Amino acid sequence: MVSARQKACLAAMGVDVWLRRTPETDDVTPPRTRRASAASEAKPPQAETAPARRATAAVLPSVQPLLDWETLATRVSACTACELHQGRTQTVFGTGNRNAEWLIIGEAPGAEEDKRGEPFVGRAGQLLTSMLGALGLPRPQVYIANILKCRPPSNRDPKPDEVAFCEQYLFNQIALLNPRIILAVGRIAAQNLLKTQTPIGKLRGHRHAFGGQEIPVVVTYHPAYLLRSPGEKRRAWEDLLFARQVFESLPPR
Ligand code: SF4
Repeated sequence: MVSARQKACLAAMGVDVWLRRTPETDDVTPPRTRRASAASEAKPPQAETAPARRATAAVLPSVQPLLDWETLATRVSACTACELHQGRTQTVFGTGNRNAEWLIIGEAPGAEEDKRGEPFVGRAGQLLTSMLGALGLPRPQVYIANILKCRPPSNRDPKPDEVAFCEQYLFNQIALLNPRIILAVGRIAAQNLLKTQTPIGKLRGHRHAFGGQEIPVVVTYHPAYLLRSPGEKRRAWEDLLFARQVFESLPPR
């Protein structure tokens, strides 16, 4: 059954009806109740082969020394390794369940995040929360972090040296969290995490791998982009279904 909350979340994503997965419907084919025009949209990932398709495997990151959560958070809050520290109100370390199986990685703090010290707040954050809710993942159940911990001025793209400094913190977080799956949200997150210049449109719909443990990575659009381009919400929903399919295909720990 689809709960009222999930219906509300799906509505926020622009998806009309959510069909519970059954052996017969265990794929990402758009529900029959969707508009006929949906058939002309981008093809969803192929369910039967999806878990076997691996596109990009990120280089094994080395985090030396590995810091515990509290030491790492303290280190980040005092970091002046790149110029972004000059304009920040505060660092945005990350938030959520430190035992989470799902890790959501975004780009960098925006104005609201910089003010509140938390990733994905404001309208884009609300949409991300709805996206996760539609998937049956309450936000407190996942962990959310960004590639950068400080806000770039005017929300410009991160510079390579900023990523190079800051990703060590993210790698440390990944090592501590040891998530079962990573959802890379947006082009900047996906390309930097996977060390590729491949456009996001080509990264979507594939199972990538991160690090020596080959943590599965699935790529989708950034909610801020979806707010500007609501017509893409349906593709984002297909990405989430694909991510869940990859997650469910993982062997138990
Ligand atoms: S963006 Fe990262 S590396 Fe740069 S000052 Fe902030 S915490 Fe340090």
